[in-house]
Amino acid sequence: MPKFRKDAKRFAEVLLGTEPFAKYKDKFSIRAVETPSPQSGVNHPHQDIHTRSALSVTYGAFNSQRYALGYDNKKIRDAAAAVPYEFTAILMNDSIYGGGGIYNLYITAAVNNAFQEYLFVHEFGHHFADLADEYYTSATAYEMNTESKEPWELNVTANPDPETIKWKDIVTPGTPIPTPWDKKKYDKHSIEVQKKRVEMRKAKVPEKVMEKFFIEKRKWDTELLSNMKYSNNVGAFEGAQYKAKGMYRSAANCIMFTRHDQFCPACQRAIKLIIDQYTK
Ligand SMILES: [Zn+2]
Repeated sequence: MPKFRKDAKRFAEVLLGTEPFAKYKDKFSIRAVETPSPQSGVNHPHQDIHTRSALSVTYGAFNSQRYALGYDNKKIRDAAAAVPYEFTAILMNDSIYGGGGIYNLYITAAVNNAFQEYLFVHEFGHHFADLADEYYTSATAYEMNTESKEPWELNVTANPDPETIKWKDIVTPGTPIPTPWDKKKYDKHSIEVQKKRVEMRKAKVPEKVMEKFFIEKRKWDTELLSNMKYSNNVGAFEGAQYKAKGMYRSAANCIMFTRHDQFCPACQRAIKLIIDQYTK
């Protein structure tokens, strides 16, 4: 429990240090609820690790190795009911990369991984503001329809029309819509990385090796995505929500796209709307 309290405090600070949460941090109150488990860590069916934890959280949700959820909602609500709450984060005392976040339900996040802070904030974006994933090259547990209908999430669009795009009012003046970016280069590298990731998971390499691999990928992504002509502009960048074509995100990089540390302007605005809904 002392470790849990320390972890909870750290994640609260990370979240409230990320914009736009940082700007409105006085409007948040965060409480930690202690739920001791008989064993350390959570269940990992893909790795033959079988653990029973207080909230029955398990990796391998929807047969995705990195996706962690708890299916016993009553148990989760009973624990959370110790305090008044609107949003819920379940910290997993685990070192294997993973987590999950569902709008208005809860998030899970591993806390002993090199990417723990990114994971927490990314999943919280799903849970708090229904942000869509902006990535599209990694394997997911979902099958998306092939038509590009306009999604309801505020950070992705199937409508790259400069006159009617849903974040029209925040487009940086002079930015072409759709916005050119080094997509070919990004896709080629990302697809290779994803293949290798699957092989490494199959071979059950140590988590530290996976972390090193993800750190290199993040470095590569950051270098490419922050040095393009429109890197700092709001526009419509093709590739989002599991689709390489026909779906667009508002900025070159975002915490919902890569393991970046900031939300893009469309995500920030969506979060702000929810903050207003609860606090105004
Ligand atoms: Zn975003």
